[in-house]
Amino acid sequence: MKPTIALVGRPNVGKSTLFNRLTRSKDALVHDLPGLTRDRHYGHGRVGSKPYLVVDTGGFEPVVDSGILHEMARQTLQAIDEADAVIFLTDARTGLTPQDKIIADRLRQSPRPVFLAVNKGEGGNRAVLAAEFYELALGEPYVVSGAHGDGIYALMEEVLAHF
Ligand code: GDP
Ligand code: MG
Repeated sequence: MKPTIALVGRPNVGKSTLFNRLTRSKDALVHDLPGLTRDRHYGHGRVGSKPYLVVDTGGFEPVVDSGILHEMARQTLQAIDEADAVIFLTDARTGLTPQDKIIADRLRQSPRPVFLAVNKGEGGNRAVLAAEFYELALGEPYVVSGAHGDGIYALMEEVLAHF
């Protein structure tokens, strides 16, 4: 089974940067599949012999009459709905924010596995960076750097081990 993995998180945590890294492999086919929602990007990738489809849940652009928090919640729920697993990105540089907590509330209700990633962790002490994110009650935080690649292989191995 080729799982669909959704990248979820508030704006600027690094979803698109991680998406690009996860779809960078030689046979990656990065495009928007016809018929699928326009506010998400889909791409193929592979770790070892395990292929996956990855979804970048995009910008949380607020639509008319809908605040950004509503839009975040809506896109998060949609992503959960169509994904087999979710990678929830947070940002080690800004630390835990109220928006992270709102998204985490939705994700804790997800029937799918959720992997908590603390991004932008390059050069830092992993245990120190991870510490405050245990409060989200989504299990062990994975300290990663989408930009530099740190921790990404370990995270993806863990995600793909479920499929
Ligand atoms: P998105 O809004 O969640 O899609 O976030 P982007 O991928 O557009 O990244 C937002 C900003 O964070 C950009 O300036 C990126 O260069 C930066 N960024 C993304 N990943 C990393 C990372 O691992 N480390 C650092 N230091 N910056 C990052
Ligand atoms: Mg983006």
